Amino acid sequence: MGAKYDALKAHLADVENLNHAQGLLNWDQQTQMPPGGAPARAAQVATLARIAHEMFTSDETAKMLDDADAEIAGMPYDSDEASLVRVVRQDYEDLVKLPSDLVAELTRATSMAHEVWAKAREDNHFRTFQPSLEKIVDLTVQVAEHLGFQDQPYDALVDQYERGITTARIKEIFDAHKPALVALIAAIQARSDRVSDAVLHQEFDVDQQRAFSVEVVQALGYDFNRGRIDVAVHPFATSFSRNDVRITTRFNARWLNPALFGSIHEAGHAMYEQNVGEALEGTPLGAGTSLGVHESQSRMWENMIGRSKGFWCWAFPRLQTIFPAQFGRVDLDTFYRAINKVQPSFIRVEADEATYNLHIMLRFELESEMTAGKIRIGDLPEEWNDRFEAFFGITPPSDSLGVLQDVHWSMGLIGYFPTYALGNLLAAQYYQKAIQARPSIPDDIAQGKFDTLRTWLTENIHQHGRKFTSDELTRRVTGEPIQSRDYIHYLQTKFAEIYGL
Ligand code: ZN
Repeated sequence: MGAKYDALKAHLADVENLNHAQGLLNWDQQTQMPPGGAPARAAQVATLARIAHEMFTSDETAKMLDDADAEIAGMPYDSDEASLVRVVRQDYEDLVKLPSDLVAELTRATSMAHEVWAKAREDNHFRTFQPSLEKIVDLTVQVAEHLGFQDQPYDALVDQYERGITTARIKEIFDAHKPALVALIAAIQARSDRVSDAVLHQEFDVDQQRAFSVEVVQALGYDFNRGRIDVAVHPFATSFSRNDVRITTRFNARWLNPALFGSIHEAGHAMYEQNVGEALEGTPLGAGTSLGVHESQSRMWENMIGRSKGFWCWAFPRLQTIFPAQFGRVDLDTFYRAINKVQPSFIRVEADEATYNLHIMLRFELESEMTAGKIRIGDLPEEWNDRFEAFFGITPPSDSLGVLQDVHWSMGLIGYFPTYALGNLLAAQYYQKAIQARPSIPDDIAQGKFDTLRTWLTENIHQHGRKFTSDELTRRVTGEPIQSRDYIHYLQTKFAEIYGL
């Protein structure tokens, strides 16, 4: 390419290097660092963040973007060059709107709020957290005002995580599938005695769990030459390069699910990052395109594959060998039903596939209303419980099991939750398309052959990195925008068989 474009790329590579160094410090903090290191680490990360932000939002970046843009004029929309300039210009225009003292204040407020939230949740005392949350919501609304929005502040917030989406559009997508979810859950509840998950709650040696998790994610296609797995309190996946994408997990010696399904979930995120096109390495395009699309990958592997009968035809004999006392006398069907038990419960992260999106719809309503000033923060616990009762027919017995359960608000991540539900819908939509294109996928999975699906995902989704927005990508891959039809069909078919509906 030309000199101007190359200069832009080199400049952006410096910013990327600073961001990835920050990412590595965060990974270290959550997996290795002694607790005493926290204050120094916060300062180190803040310095890197400040330099990266200044470098990216500088006039120099604007000038380089203009120069490169002129130089590459006429390049096709989906070329690496046109995509880089287009996507980076949007990133730039968003970030440059935010005054740096507002960013710094929000960073300070959230880093202090985390401890306050953790204590409030432990003590089951919302009032302790209330002032921090009031401050964070206030600052977040200011961020939205600087970014600009059409109808309400929440529009600007959700756009940060799923570019191009609006509150009204999310509401439309949610309203379109909520009644079907509610009806399905009610039908399942009437037959709840048909499924027990008791076999999952036994003693499971942690080293054996680790060995099995590693074996599974490696078979799925997570590349350990370019990755590794460690333990973290709140599991995550993180990428510093397509050739260094790490996952974390956590173990419960009396419950199989967290490590096993958690590892598959994070490996789903990680395989997306490992398979981004090589040419995008070191550029701002070298990552997954949106949180919703990212979540579609983790949930597809965790649920549509990891909780499928076919997958366990292959994996269950191996699990029985590792845990003969626990599973030697359990048949495949009992195990398959156990991992697919549906039951309304209080905690989102433990929710099954059928109830999960309702947890998100509840948070979406509350977030959009509190940022629009329609709900006072002091009234949140009551609002949460009333709506929870209306959604699920049960009332949280405590705020720790209700409004205080999630870490997101303490981190200033308001507008993030909807992407989890969008990810479920996209997973079903993409998977449906994958099977249409490669009909052998389900049979291959039952043989332990996962590269048919993985290759299709790489070709159609992963390799593009951030070149296309979630909406552009979904239309390219499936021929239509995001919809809930495939997800509902998937759930109805699966649970009709399991629960005999
Ligand atoms: Zn995830």
